[in-house]
Amino acid sequence: MSKQPVSPRRVDPLDFLDIDSLLDPQERLIRDTVRQFVRDRVLPDVADWFEEGRFPKELAPEMGELGLLGMHLDGYGCAGTSSVEYGLACTELEYGDSGTRSFVSVQGSLAMFPIWAYGSEEQKQEWLPGMAAGEVIGCFGLTEPDAGSDPGSMRTTAKRDGGDWVLNGSKMWITNGGISDVAVVWARTDEGVKGFIVPTGTKGYTVNDIHKKLSLRASVTSELVLDDVRLPGDAVLPGVTGLKGPLSCLSEARFGIMFGAVGAARACYESALAYAIEREQFGRPIGSFQLIQRQLVEMLVAVNRGMLVSLHIGRLKDRGDIDPAHISFGKFDTVRTALEVARTARSVLGANGITLEYPVIRHMNNLESVYTYEGTNEVHTLIMGQKITGLEAFG
Ligand SMILES: Cc1cc2nc3c(=O)[nH]c(=O)nc-3n(C[C@H](O)[C@H](O)[C@H](O)COP(=O)(O)OP(=O)(O)OC[C@H]3O[C@@H](n4cnc5c(N)ncnc54)[C@H](O)[C@@H]3O)c2cc1C
Repeated sequence: MSKQPVSPRRVDPLDFLDIDSLLDPQERLIRDTVRQFVRDRVLPDVADWFEEGRFPKELAPEMGELGLLGMHLDGYGCAGTSSVEYGLACTELEYGDSGTRSFVSVQGSLAMFPIWAYGSEEQKQEWLPGMAAGEVIGCFGLTEPDAGSDPGSMRTTAKRDGGDWVLNGSKMWITNGGISDVAVVWARTDEGVKGFIVPTGTKGYTVNDIHKKLSLRASVTSELVLDDVRLPGDAVLPGVTGLKGPLSCLSEARFGIMFGAVGAARACYESALAYAIEREQFGRPIGSFQLIQRQLVEMLVAVNRGMLVSLHIGRLKDRGDIDPAHISFGKFDTVRTALEVARTARSVLGANGITLEYPVIRHMNNLESVYTYEGTNEVHTLIMGQKITGLEAFG
């Protein structure tokens, strides 16, 4: 341990706490590879995708090639990385756009994970390799028009009819819905909530994309309608019954979101820092004003803290010491602070902050969705509140 007095040293404004040194070479390699992919394939066009309101589906096989889909799962063509490595990839993807990261989260953690964790061997063999390659796109249908934070009130049903299952109901706000080949749909059965693998070409299954969104515009969000959708008996996921099935998938996805929000915040901080050093008013760079430096430093601290929190929770997950409430802590904290960072950066950029020429307002609008999906800020508050008091406050 060094006994040297603390003396000034060179500090990287973009990695102030030298968090890089906490990563091993493999983690850095994955981080850098995804960073380069985002620089090459996302950043040049993402403002146009956002403006046009479309997700570039052609990226899916490229992401598959990079091993980003079902990244932290083992076997069946998946990359089998650690949780931290998956998280670092999410940070880089969301530095590009929350829509890009949402695609990867939904594909890997919400559509592939339930098949991987609760599917039969035949189901895994049939679906996972194509999904890992990005040739087959999946979505996850839990939320309904009248069942959001309270998925236990879902109305979608699956009833036995001879050897088949027949599904009726609707799902709302489903990421990737309109571009999916397969949906994992959660429905109420006589035995409890169960997951079903629904090929999207099945008769009675229709999709309506949701338009006029001002957030997550470079991502497809849809309504799924199930009208007497008849599925064979082996379409059900045999390994889980009850809400713990979908909730376990949400824990996986929320973990990636926790890391992802730090990427969005970092993009906003970097943009504001560069702008503040360059932009002059009153004959000086605006970064020389105390009030602006205060804002830059608040952003700096938030970004570094978010990464440290995510990394710590990631290490807990990798060593098997994680509780879902830890992930709630991370999602609650990194998303709300990312939103604050984005709003602050927007202000530092002045009028330029409202255009898509800079990434900030795009991230700011996206983060409003991220704040709400995968458990709202309030829901995560209640999960942590229950954990520390032993008292449930949902109802
Ligand atoms: C862009 C986008 C993509 C999405 N993708 C998917 C997807 O792929 N699959 C999927 O299944 N769902 C998806 N969702 C749905 C998302 O998970 C829900 O929006 C979320 O769970 C909140 O539900 P809700 O919108 O119905 O809000 P509500 O549950 O109606 O909540 C409204 C408000 O009430 C608060 N509230 C609710 N209950 C309590 C309580 N007990 N105490 C205190 N406050 C409470 C909430 O925190 C919130 O502020 C997506 C949503 C968006 C916006």
